[in-house]
Amino acid sequence: MEKTLMIQEINRLKKEKNAVILAHYYQDGDIQDIADYTGDSLYLSQIASQTDADVIVFAGVHFMAETAKILSPEKTVLLPVKEAGCPMADMVTKVRLLNYKEKHPDRIVVCYVNSTAEVKALSDICVTSSNAEKIIKNYQGQKMLYVPDKNLGTYLREKYDLDMEVWPGFCCIHNDLTLDQVAKMKKKYPKAELIVHPEAKLEIVKVSDFAGSTKGLLNYVIKSNHNEFIVGTEKGIIHTMKKACPDKKFHILSNGLACYDMKLTRLEDVYLALKEDKYVIEVEENIRLKAFEALNKMMKLS
Ligand code: SF4
Repeated sequence: MEKTLMIQEINRLKKEKNAVILAHYYQDGDIQDIADYTGDSLYLSQIASQTDADVIVFAGVHFMAETAKILSPEKTVLLPVKEAGCPMADMVTKVRLLNYKEKHPDRIVVCYVNSTAEVKALSDICVTSSNAEKIIKNYQGQKMLYVPDKNLGTYLREKYDLDMEVWPGFCCIHNDLTLDQVAKMKKKYPKAELIVHPEAKLEIVKVSDFAGSTKGLLNYVIKSNHNEFIVGTEKGIIHTMKKACPDKKFHILSNGLACYDMKLTRLEDVYLALKEDKYVIEVEENIRLKAFEALNKMMKLS
């Protein structure tokens, strides 16, 4: 089907089914442009919990759609591409976390939202990269475990001097960034500021001009007096940055900053999701209730 026609059909189906499309910043520009709401995990979770739509089409990866279902169990939540997962979320499992908790019952489990419902259900509180710093301050002085991202956990531990153990998980694209890439890009664009996501290693964060969540980076470039940036996060955000700041220049720190799973979703998948009601996300009710508690605590403290 031709693109304009497909967009018309998506809009028609949306009205017919009282559906809303949520797209993460890491989605392709085409998907961001047809979405009703575009944002980071925190913002999209808030929208999912507040919308009065009957159907939520989540253009993102599995844990995001699952989070929407946990927050809005009465709604139909659709993930357009069944296989779109997050390797980092799969790096912590229920069995391994239960094992850890048995050995360390005194540690509060702080869980990055990039995790499965089963892991959230075993955690005390969830955080996103947007609210992690604010929430973690409530637990300063207490023993914690941070799952699953070792880089974001280490960043928080160093910044706030926390008694925090970190799970050895990581985001495959942010974790691959190197100081060598930074040096090359700084040499090529000497006037540009380096901005990075704290899912990158601490050594990269330390040489950046600013580190923050995807939303934090977007807000930074909007407010900054600088006109040129080297961007150290998934390249999908550059579409949003260019729309928000058409006169500023953005250079991706590495061409490897493209999340394979995020880029699986195409317009046709969104159209088919709406047309054929696929793929429906379900979460077992006993798991959902426990995961909801951890997410709800996060929402209240955000
Ligand atoms: S960018 Fe990294 S953390 Fe985000 S979905 Fe992709 S692999 Fe997971």
